[in-house]
Amino acid sequence: MVMAPSAVSTITDYANTNVETNPKHLIRARGSSFVGGYDGPAVSKALVADALKKRVQGVDGDTCEAGEEDTFFVADLGEVYRQHLRWKMHLRRIKPHYAVKCNPDPQVLKLLAELGTGFDCASKAEIEQVLQLGVDPSRIIYAQPCKTKSYIRYAAQEGVKQMTFDNADELYKIKQFLPDAELFLRILTDDSASLCRLSLKFGASLDTTGSLLKLAKELDLNVVGVAFHVGSGASDPNAFLGAVSDARAVFDQGIALGHDMRNLDVGGGFISETFEPMAEVLSKAIDENFPSHVRIIGEPGRYYVADAFTIACNVIARRTVDDAASATKSYMLYLNDGVYGNFSSIMFDHQHPVPQILKCGDKTAQDLVSQKTSGPATEYSIWGPTCDGIDCISESCKFPQTLDVGDWLFFEEMGAYTKCSATRFNGFTDKHEVIYVSSEPGAKALLGM
Ligand SMILES: *Cc1c(COP(=O)(O)O)cnc(C)c1O
Repeated sequence: MVMAPSAVSTITDYANTNVETNPKHLIRARGSSFVGGYDGPAVSKALVADALKKRVQGVDGDTCEAGEEDTFFVADLGEVYRQHLRWKMHLRRIKPHYAVKCNPDPQVLKLLAELGTGFDCASKAEIEQVLQLGVDPSRIIYAQPCKTKSYIRYAAQEGVKQMTFDNADELYKIKQFLPDAELFLRILTDDSASLCRLSLKFGASLDTTGSLLKLAKELDLNVVGVAFHVGSGASDPNAFLGAVSDARAVFDQGIALGHDMRNLDVGGGFISETFEPMAEVLSKAIDENFPSHVRIIGEPGRYYVADAFTIACNVIARRTVDDAASATKSYMLYLNDGVYGNFSSIMFDHQHPVPQILKCGDKTAQDLVSQKTSGPATEYSIWGPTCDGIDCISESCKFPQTLDVGDWLFFEEMGAYTKCSATRFNGFTDKHEVIYVSSEPGAKALLGM
């Protein structure tokens, strides 16, 4: 599915559009053919593996402090950097506004601030966190169509003017607290092919946009554009086609009513696996429907961070399950993290994290790869630490090794909608260490790592 990047030789130009950095190498988009002299994803794998190993080596469950064996993340900020370059290669017209809710990790936000992206915030705390990085308020869009009054006052006080709306009551609130807001009318889209549907909750249907635009005019409010979101984790490129042409129709309604329509916000929903084909369909639709003076922004969240975070968890308990009938043994493994913690993505984001062995006895991942046995595999189910039966990470997985208490598992692609929605249910912590590495010298330089 993933297509080779085109015009890759000009990647340094793209990288330099917003930032004063000069990556000496070319990049390789995930899954595409290798171009240039630096294999970022391979370097990433090695760096992350090394950090994981180092961190667990010193931990002895028999003697360590309580919590020393807690779950931890390794984040490769180079991955975020590569995703940014990849975005700029394939969606050059669209200025990304990172959706903070997806993972408000301070280093991720700092890197994106340095790279010159904008930010999609949905609450006072998110706006505050971004402003504290020194980001100009004009780079923020308050992309929540149903806002808290006191947060609108806060946005007004801080100079954050761009915001979305999708109903009449919101317009009266905005009129009261921020009459010079730059408003984006969020429209409804068909998000039936996405992982997380948002249109059940937000978006004006096309039979209401005319009256909303008219009301905004009567209230002397500035509608400056249209926004949509095809659903988080969208998998059908055609979702963008319908949304862009609907946005065009609403643009024309606004223009006819005298609004200065000059922005289109194409929302988020991008995933790494299908990014290039999605980008191609979207770019073409935009170019066909919106002349070059229209400013286009996007709100990618998971696209930037999903693959950048790996999590490691400790096996805290084990139960042997003897099946007398088949004379086989399987195990229930209990980890110190689960669906009430960083695996909240299983419940809220329909994810299926894949367990891999980090440490088994005194062997770590690399030794295990080279010693992969061809013998019969043992079956495991993997559970979280809380008292709730729903707290299951994997109902069934198989390893050739026999795992025991004190061993470690790791899971890749744990950057999106994971730690941000973790709870402290049952007294387990929601604050976990993040070890930062960078497989891209450019990201290192920007962060002073
Ligand atoms: C959640 C959200 C996003 C980000 O969605 P992703 O699927 O993570 O890209 C962008 N815009 C809005 C309004 C959202 O609610």
